[in-house]
Amino acid sequence: MKKMKKLLLLVLIALSLTAPSTVPIIGSVESVQAAAQISKKNAVLLTGQTMQLKVKDADSKIKWSSSNKTVATVKNNGLVTAKKKGTAVITAETDKTVLQCKVTVQTPRISQSSRTLNKGKTVRLTVSGTNQKITWKTSNSRVATVSASGVVAAKSAGTCKIYATVLGKKFTFTITVKSTQPSVTTVWLSATGSKYHKIPNCGRMNPNKARKVTITYAKQCGYGACSKCFR
Ligand SMILES: [Zn+2]
Repeated sequence: MKKMKKLLLLVLIALSLTAPSTVPIIGSVESVQAAAQISKKNAVLLTGQTMQLKVKDADSKIKWSSSNKTVATVKNNGLVTAKKKGTAVITAETDKTVLQCKVTVQTPRISQSSRTLNKGKTVRLTVSGTNQKITWKTSNSRVATVSASGVVAAKSAGTCKIYATVLGKKFTFTITVKSTQPSVTTVWLSATGSKYHKIPNCGRMNPNKARKVTITYAKQCGYGACSKCFR
């Protein structure tokens, strides 16, 4: 008898789904108790995440099952765990009803995990493996900023993190920003003159007579920066 009722209900559901919405639902459905409802019919989860499914107005004890346990499992209290990329249908079965929730498991990846950039440069980050909304955030906007589309701009020397958040899960990119002026430690002195040079052949000296010294030494001796190579 229970099986008959369930079959009848399924037929009625099928009819109501295929019939145009203006057609009134057949009277006998009214006599059935308030139809059980599942808390979600579709869900996207990331690998490792869990979700609690619930059934409202269940007519009997619920039997939970997963169509693909390698993708998502379900405990007998309706707790779903995402295992790996793919889709699985979670079914809640009572004496009279079969309710389902389609679970899509995604495994997003950020395009890069770290990079060193010169001040003023940009890099575009992407997150693949998901169709969900991505929100971008920087841990220090003085060092680097990030746009709503994932374009990172190196602002000033230092290190900071850029976070991409998908369904509550954070993906991290570490950026090191270098000052565009590389620090000069050694310089060249010409045989005559009062300036030190970045290179031994900048045009304002005789390269054959140039000698290499530390910048500290050059400054101590009273030399100044060549206006041509240090502009
Ligand atoms: Zn020079």
